[in-house]
Amino acid sequence: MIQYNCDPPPKVAEGYLERREQEGYMKLRIKMIKTDVIIIGGGATGTGVARDLALRGIDHCLLEKKDFAAGATGACHGLLHSGGRYAVNDPEAARECISENQILRKIGKKCVEFTEGLFVRLPGDTLEYRDDFLESCHRTGISTEIFSASKALGLVPNLNPALEEAVKVPDCSIDPFRLCMLNAESSSLRGGKILTHHKVIEVIKERGNCVGVKAQEQFSGEIIEIRGKVIINASGAWGSIVAKMSGSDVPMNLSKGSLIIANHRLTSMVINRLRPASNGDIIVPNETVSLAGTTSIHVNDPENLSISPEEIGLITSEASQMVPEFDSVRLIRSYTGVRPLLKGDSHSDDDRAISRGFRIIDHKNGMFSIMGGKLTTYRLMAEKMTDRIMEHFGINVPCTTAEKPLEGQNQLSGYPVSNRIEKLDDIICECELVTRKDVEKVIDSVGTKYIGDIQHRTRLGMGPCQGGFCTYRALGMMQEKGKVTSGESIRVLREFLDRRYRGIRPVLWGDQMREEQLVEGIYLGILGLADK
Ligand SMILES: Cc1cc2nc3c(=O)[nH]c(=O)nc-3n(C[C@H](O)[C@H](O)[C@H](O)COP(=O)(O)OP(=O)(O)OC[C@H]3O[C@@H](n4cnc5c(N)ncnc54)[C@H](O)[C@@H]3O)c2cc1C
Repeated sequence: MIQYNCDPPPKVAEGYLERREQEGYMKLRIKMIKTDVIIIGGGATGTGVARDLALRGIDHCLLEKKDFAAGATGACHGLLHSGGRYAVNDPEAARECISENQILRKIGKKCVEFTEGLFVRLPGDTLEYRDDFLESCHRTGISTEIFSASKALGLVPNLNPALEEAVKVPDCSIDPFRLCMLNAESSSLRGGKILTHHKVIEVIKERGNCVGVKAQEQFSGEIIEIRGKVIINASGAWGSIVAKMSGSDVPMNLSKGSLIIANHRLTSMVINRLRPASNGDIIVPNETVSLAGTTSIHVNDPENLSISPEEIGLITSEASQMVPEFDSVRLIRSYTGVRPLLKGDSHSDDDRAISRGFRIIDHKNGMFSIMGGKLTTYRLMAEKMTDRIMEHFGINVPCTTAEKPLEGQNQLSGYPVSNRIEKLDDIICECELVTRKDVEKVIDSVGTKYIGDIQHRTRLGMGPCQGGFCTYRALGMMQEKGKVTSGESIRVLREFLDRRYRGIRPVLWGDQMREEQLVEGIYLGILGLADK
């Protein structure tokens, strides 16, 4: 049961908080929420746990410091693994992947595109590995079909014509943003409290036990207190930072992986290289674009990540061995994420050798951490985590997330877009054909102050111009609807452009450089942002 210990804070006049802050004084009544389970992290794992708790009737509150999928979930390939990638070295993870792959294709039809995948063997890739791969897939229950080079080229004409053969597996493409939102929808529908843009800044302890958290709303700075019986730390690569707030320890190995986005859908199937896992050996089609990656570089901090030109060069050259067009196509963006791997699962120096299995840690102080795993196995992770919570509460309600389709799929904006467009003026984002109605729906339902929230829910700005032409239109609509003031909209626009530029900078050459100069001309020249 969610309660407030006071009325909602009164509406404050524009500039009031800033003036009070300048006076060194901010007196806001603290809002308090009471619940049973507090979840920290709005990635696939956290939102998956929220859905499972909701379906089993357990009251909960999820806190995410940014928007859904702001961590590794939104920074991944979006590959719903068949398990093929892990079959040889990590059979347990492979078995989990194929089982979850089949479940997600059933319950999340609007998030998953059944592209299927090809593991391609290029000259120099050994027959020994190919035999080992086929045998391991067979043992772990992953279906395979061997294709000659000409048959593979018939399916994906952009493949390297020098390929020797390919093995088909049930790999798919999955939209991680939609997935998290739909999980959160199941929770909200049953009274779960989902607070995005709320960063947990403190864990409240009484007599050695965790009894709640303090969280700060990231736009206004408002602090709220949430009291609960159990805290679930589903904060991915931030796991040890959050665990430390409760005086606990989660030993982690942080492995950074970077990806590039090409401005076309160069392949209709997921493409993997038929060799042991290495850099740049996966290409995934994602709606109108293609993603390629990744790398594996040890880092100590999940924030302030950068992408080096060497990483971009490496991924591009590896991807173009499988699909040669990657060498000449316009790259529109790069991005990077951190794998939340658990320490102590490998004796190798290579982070790729660490198991992709997951672990639940009971810190024996009212906090549980759930770490490791894959996007593909998030539902299973959530099921096991929720089983532990039910055991903790002494309640026996079985998990139903594998059978019940994700709710809210029919309300998603999507194809065929022609059904939704009455006149051309209705289109706000030409690249992804996002309409005025789509944007209005998000502004009205989420009440957001962040452009990113609209992007994640509609794909606005995710196509070739990367928001160059549609961001100011969406921001204008937010302002028209009174969600941001003119001063705030400049701040929002600046933040968005900074973030956009960080992703574009590593791939700035050729056509992309020309496009960027045009976008710069719009924002700095026509809109005069440099002077504001
Ligand atoms: C480059 C790369 C490619 C990958 N590709 C794939 C793939 O194709 N397929 C696949 O199955 N898996 C893939 N993975 C693995 C997969 O992305 C992750 O295992 C999975 O997404 C982890 O989800 P999570 O919810 O546990 O963590 P995250 O998604 O990292 O979620 C943690 C959340 O916690 C939030 N948070 C942190 N601190 C706080 C705080 N103090 N208060 C509130 N919120 C907080 C963060 O903002 C974040 O949103 C990839 C990983 C990487 C890095």
